Amino acid sequence: MFEALPVPHGLVRFGVAPDHPEVKNVINTFDEVAENPNFTFIGNTSVGTYVTPGSKKADLEISELRPHYDAILLSYGAHEDRLLGVPNEQSLKGVMAARSFVGFYNGLPSEQGLEVDLSQSETAVVIGQGNVALDVARILLSPLDELKKTDLTEKTIRILEKSRVKHVHVIGRRGPLEVAFTAKELREMLHLPNTTFHMDQDLLASEMERAGKTLDRPRKRLMGLLEKGIKESKPDQPKSWSLQFLRSPLGFTGTDESSGSQLKAIELGINRLEGENNSRKAVATGAKESLECGLAFRSIGYKSVGIQGVPFDERKGVVPNMDGKVLDAEQNIVPGLYASGWLKRGPIGVIATTMADAYQTADTIIADWTIGKPMLTADSTPKEGCKSLLELLHSKGHRTVSYKDWKKIEQKEFDLGAKVGKPREKFLTVEEMLKVLD
Ligand SMILES: Cc1cc2nc3c(=O)[nH]c(=O)nc-3n(C[C@H](O)[C@H](O)[C@H](O)COP(=O)(O)OP(=O)(O)OC[C@H]3O[C@@H](n4cnc5c(N)ncnc54)[C@H](O)[C@@H]3O)c2cc1C
Repeated sequence: MFEALPVPHGLVRFGVAPDHPEVKNVINTFDEVAENPNFTFIGNTSVGTYVTPGSKKADLEISELRPHYDAILLSYGAHEDRLLGVPNEQSLKGVMAARSFVGFYNGLPSEQGLEVDLSQSETAVVIGQGNVALDVARILLSPLDELKKTDLTEKTIRILEKSRVKHVHVIGRRGPLEVAFTAKELREMLHLPNTTFHMDQDLLASEMERAGKTLDRPRKRLMGLLEKGIKESKPDQPKSWSLQFLRSPLGFTGTDESSGSQLKAIELGINRLEGENNSRKAVATGAKESLECGLAFRSIGYKSVGIQGVPFDERKGVVPNMDGKVLDAEQNIVPGLYASGWLKRGPIGVIATTMADAYQTADTIIADWTIGKPMLTADSTPKEGCKSLLELLHSKGHRTVSYKDWKKIEQKEFDLGAKVGKPREKFLTVEEMLKVLD
């Protein structure tokens, strides 16, 4: 397993919210596999240069791997976030991708340069109504004493100590029936202490009436939670959050005209819903409104990026595949090349879904192997794996990180965390991680 960072676990470490440690238990499954003597973790080693112009050259290319393996499984996730495509979303202070903020507070090295200042304004908006949007809202509104017990980085805790954020609006372009978050995350939001919840009760009632019996059980339960949340919400609390529906961002305005000025407001277009159940579309009414806020988090999804020498479907943002077997532009199977995870099916789904399709790809590999399908090279002699690749990397002065090394880094994180009453204190830079091994 080649991993670009010195540390494993991908979004389980850098995405999943710090106050959801139970979700991270999948790490134990990773450890079980990693302790198998037939498994080798090679961290701090990127494979495949991204096709995006200006991308850093990878430590190894797929073509360099091919002679050493019978099969290659691509599982490098979806690391770019989607843009709204509206004015000023990348030029104002205070507007950022939810993914970047999440990476920042979870200690992702590449996001540590993000400018996060929560002291500028009392109001934040989150654009998007999925679980990541609620994660961001919850981190902004949770009592700090609770967060201090998690593995949220100390750097973030210092920033939250200065936070003035009291009101968070979670904005969606469609209606309550189309929200993408799940019951657990909603319940947590509704149970935030000293926090009032607002949403349009009439819209919820009319949408539920319209959907009638077509509502499936999970959706019905979710709508029931919203109804209960509205009814039980205590008014006039010091903090508040709201779900705002039928709103599409049209642009952001700053405190002055200059690029790099502080966000002052978001312009929203007001929509109405058209179409039948399951295919409700947001249609602009032409009406607009402006919402004052000093922070805006874009949480509208992610995308994978292609790497050199591997087929990639730009439109769908995935490596084209059939049950995990990579397909070329003519839809022919590329022997020995497989895909899994968000790269295989797009950046949707939780860890359980990602695991399920990893099992499916593994079954495909085993089936191909068993029936003797041609693998990566025409020559059928057994391949020796990473031995000479490691020699090559080390001869170039490249530093790899083994699973044992990772365990040393992890132990140090546990030790540092214990000093401040946290499960772990993450290292924020690759240099700091590697320094543990010196
Ligand atoms: C913010 C956020 C919060 C989430 N919270 C939850 C949650 O609470 N519960 C839940 O069940 N699911 C959650 N998910 C979803 C879950 O994280 C994903 O389903 C899962 O992590 C996808 O796994 P993956 O292996 O496809 O990608 P990733 O987890 O992204 O793993 C990809 C790995 O590939 C590495 N990599 C990238 N490029 C290269 C390269 N060129 N060479 C070598 N290595 C490379 C990356 O460093 C990374 O370690 C969340 C997702 C996000 C974004």
